[in-house]
Amino acid sequence: MGTITHYLCPSCRKEHHVSGEFYEVGVPYIVCNKCGTRIDMRAARDEWDSMGVDKKIRIGLGVIILDGFLGFIAAAVAIGIFEGGLGIKLTTENVRILGGVVWVGVWVLLVMKKKAEIADSINRTRNRN
Ligand SMILES: [Zn+2]
Repeated sequence: MGTITHYLCPSCRKEHHVSGEFYEVGVPYIVCNKCGTRIDMRAARDEWDSMGVDKKIRIGLGVIILDGFLGFIAAAVAIGIFEGGLGIKLTTENVRILGGVVWVGVWVLLVMKKKAEIADSINRTRNRN
């Protein structure tokens, strides 16, 4: 999902490709697989405890925007399965309810995934100290 950012190793100039969606919770560096140098990537991700409120808000907005896309696609697929796959003729009201349920379901999954990432991040940070 989203973009791929290229990071150049400051020591050996090897290029690394990191994919990500908006701003992420995670280890704020990657290790060069050629020379072992740590490549700073705090512009793209950082540990939860190190983030300011502005970045935490970006994480939250990322989840909401991502649900806008994924929830829409999942709802369209679900309606396709009901109508095309199972041959169930849905009323406008059915479509609205089914779409809404799928939309909220995707949102719950995304929030749970993000909460798990934040918990991992907090564990990493506090165990290091
Ligand atoms: Zn390197």
